[in-house]
Amino acid sequence: MKIVRLNMTTKQASFEEVPEKYLALGGRALTSQIVADEVPAECHPLGPNNKLVIAPGLLSGTSAPSSGRLSVGGKSPLTGGIKEANAGGVCSQKLANIGIKAIVVEGKADAGTYIMHLTADKAELIAADELAGKGTYELTKILKERFNPKVGVICIGPAGEMQMLSAGVTNNDLEGNSSRYAGRGGLGAVMGSKGLKAIVIEADKTFDAPVQDKERFRAAAKKFADILLKHPVCGEGLPTFGTNVLMNVINEAGTLPTRNFRFGRFDKAADVSGEKLAEVAVARGGKQTHSCHPGCVMRCSNVYPLPDGIECSPVEYETAWAFGPNLEINDLDVVARLNYICNDVGLDTIEVGCTLGVLMEAGVIPFGDGQAAIKLLEEVYQGTPLGRVLGAGTAVAGKVYGVTRVPTVKDQGIPAYDPRSCRGNGVTYATTPQGADHTAGYAVTANILKVGGFVEPTKDDGQVELSRNLQVATAAVDSTGLCLFVAFALLDNPEGLPTVVEMLNAQYGTELTVNDVTALGQQVLTVEREFNIKAGFGKAHDRLPEFFYEEELAPHNTKFDLREELDEVFKF
Ligand code: SF4
Repeated sequence: MKIVRLNMTTKQASFEEVPEKYLALGGRALTSQIVADEVPAECHPLGPNNKLVIAPGLLSGTSAPSSGRLSVGGKSPLTGGIKEANAGGVCSQKLANIGIKAIVVEGKADAGTYIMHLTADKAELIAADELAGKGTYELTKILKERFNPKVGVICIGPAGEMQMLSAGVTNNDLEGNSSRYAGRGGLGAVMGSKGLKAIVIEADKTFDAPVQDKERFRAAAKKFADILLKHPVCGEGLPTFGTNVLMNVINEAGTLPTRNFRFGRFDKAADVSGEKLAEVAVARGGKQTHSCHPGCVMRCSNVYPLPDGIECSPVEYETAWAFGPNLEINDLDVVARLNYICNDVGLDTIEVGCTLGVLMEAGVIPFGDGQAAIKLLEEVYQGTPLGRVLGAGTAVAGKVYGVTRVPTVKDQGIPAYDPRSCRGNGVTYATTPQGADHTAGYAVTANILKVGGFVEPTKDDGQVELSRNLQVATAAVDSTGLCLFVAFALLDNPEGLPTVVEMLNAQYGTELTVNDVTALGQQVLTVEREFNIKAGFGKAHDRLPEFFYEEELAPHNTKFDLREELDEVFKF
């Protein structure tokens, strides 16, 4: 395996041997370690000293089921701390199959727009001013025509080029849709700040990453697929209605943030639910179930055709919530249109949904007005002042308009579970080094879904321990390249984690134990926390916004009240 180092100041790209200390790392563990080693914590995230690090997971490029997550890391311009965001799509597998352990993009071009063309033995930077300002869908189509239809394309949209703080980095799915986002934390702005518009990856193979003991690996991968398929969430819930199966469940639980986190239920939630989405999508010739990369057995994605023929794929729960209940919009076509525009212009849907909620709270546009939201979002393409406020994220919008109910932690928008009635997630939002992030320690499992046990969601007992254990496990899973949704099966089936360890040992010839995986998760979190401390973060940043402590949330009429207890989370 090799590391590709791309210096945008000198326009030089080179292959490097992987240092010994990085050999056992992949995905989030690798991006966070390289960022901690090479990026000065106090640097400006959009300056030449920040780096964008892209890495496939340890199991990516093999036949391990659902193992094609791509990690993207750097110092976040949104939070000011360390960031790892990961995505499905085809590019993680392609990188692993041409022997790329990581891509490190550093420096900054004085001017101009560039793309990098990457093969197993060549990394070439190409001037591409003609691609400046292109939306991600058109850009990906052009690059597939220019190189070949099978290339993988990692890219940014105009929002990333304009260095908007909510800009994400995307890559394409099997059909060439540029919709699989490492969305959170503004890493698209980091890529844009360097002048890099896209990375084009040529790889013929999909499941050909080196494996030391192929027979042993095949047996473990088959066993892991069986474990996933036999689990009610991984094998039934997700493949039937996708992640948006959660809409009715979370609404029923009274923890669906509605009208900018004012209420915990939305009386029209069923209109934007997974069940409704599947019905409309299939009736219009779309797909109820879909895989974001080869080898996923959970297939949580979908293809939603809009009335004018444009296809949005996927419409995920978080996005349906962000543009639905959060804005009191109950029209799936509006939700999918906003989703599609975000994908094309290059913005994180969760952050945009939270920002629109704050702009509605400020009275810029009314709650429930989907057409006004679409019109406002389209301003991002032109980079109008209001479009730039929207692209800058929830915290900036709150400051510009003097809003006090701003749902952020470390300036990143809070996702689709209200922390007052899903307190384990509240602990995760407050404390993860990533800024408010449901995927960093998804306590919905035990708080709401009763997966891996049950912890009463409106009480404080057990929430710190629950979040701590999940954050550690998540940091490890994010390093393997496995989709986080495997966690449902890992939590419920005692054979799950040992089977993941078996795959890793068969692939790398190692003798890891389950305890080593836990140690890896703790190590990742420690590295990330230390970076953030050097960047200026302290205990005060590990708290929720004031209004969650002061306003009761219906229907449970609960407030969030964990404070000093949050400082115990990282005492492993
Ligand atoms: S479960 Fe969904 S997000 Fe995860 S790898 Fe499969 S299709 Fe992609």
